[in-house]
Amino acid sequence: MSVTFQRITLARRPSGAPVPEDFKLQSDPMPEPKDGEVLIAVTHLSLDPYMRGRMDDVKSYAPSVGIGETMTGQGVGHVLTSNADGFATGDLVTGMTGWASHACLPGKDLRKLDTDLPPSTALGVLGMPGLTGWVGLNRFGKPKAGETLVVAAATGPVGSMVGQLAKAAGLRTVAIAGGPEKCALATDTFGFDAAIDHRAHDTASDLRKAIAEAAPDGVDIYWENVGGKVLEAVLPLMNTHGRIPVCGMIAWYGGVDGDGTDRLPQMWRAVLVKRLQVTGFIIFDHWNDYPAFLNEVSPQVAEGKIAYLEDVAEGLDNMVPAFIAMLKGGNTGKQIVAL
Ligand code: NDP
Repeated sequence: MSVTFQRITLARRPSGAPVPEDFKLQSDPMPEPKDGEVLIAVTHLSLDPYMRGRMDDVKSYAPSVGIGETMTGQGVGHVLTSNADGFATGDLVTGMTGWASHACLPGKDLRKLDTDLPPSTALGVLGMPGLTGWVGLNRFGKPKAGETLVVAAATGPVGSMVGQLAKAAGLRTVAIAGGPEKCALATDTFGFDAAIDHRAHDTASDLRKAIAEAAPDGVDIYWENVGGKVLEAVLPLMNTHGRIPVCGMIAWYGGVDGDGTDRLPQMWRAVLVKRLQVTGFIIFDHWNDYPAFLNEVSPQVAEGKIAYLEDVAEGLDNMVPAFIAMLKGGNTGKQIVAL
């Protein structure tokens, strides 16, 4: 067995969008599993937008990554050595490995994977992002047949789950995505009724016109993934008693820069006059729903009724470039790094 392992640590806190110098790829002695722990050789790592937030030293729903600490994240891998009951060499497992080639984790923090689907699906369509779409839509979106849903980042793992579930529930689904290729994927692969390229509309009011055409009966559910121009475009189109599950606001993860900062407070009025239900949620509060989600959704994924896309970068060397690109829309589907 190799005597060292590789990991990516936080070298410094980014200002705005992360750059390569904010990270450090380093080699360290291979950790040894203590009693109750398992040593894992990681095969797939997840890249998720929330990781940008963990790089800042601000109070949030989860602790930030310290300078010099391994970047946080979920991985899938094989057990190399087990000192934990219930785990044996060769088992396929998933857990919070961090951005690393190997990890020692307590057995109680790992989940065994026994699936015929590719193991990487545990990080996307059948993992945290898929669960986010399923829980958030059912619990906070409260979809009803005949209504209209709008979601941005529509070809990503959250948006594509939301769109497909809403379509199956009888809603009209409108995707917002970056670029013509992603718009084509939204309609052709994920079954959205319409797709709008947010990059083709410079202003919120232009984008609003395009969304209004695609949603002639107004918007009943706006699934908030991005904030920024898209939020500003959609808010005035909301129908009375509409719902906005607030899942993410990636347009602002590097800080708010001008667009929308002065106009949004005025538009907040829409929440009052349209009696909107705006509900922020964090998926960590809903892990108890995971078994029910898997029961319902994994057969549909296996049968091809729910489609998913993965964008796979190769090697730890490509982890940082893939992360930086993902935050700007460079990924097409769930961003995975295969080791
Ligand atoms: P994606 O894989 O969809 O990646 C992010 C996408 O965001 C990009 O591909 C890009 O898509 C889009 N994007 C980036 N910048 C902008 C911008 N300025 N304006 C519009 N779109 C932009 O991510 P996920 O599906 O994993 O996550 C989607 C959202 O859900 C994120 O905000 C994430 O933080 C949030 N989330 C929240 C959770 C919770 O517990 N509340 C849990 C999981 C995710 P495009 O090129 O199409 O514009």
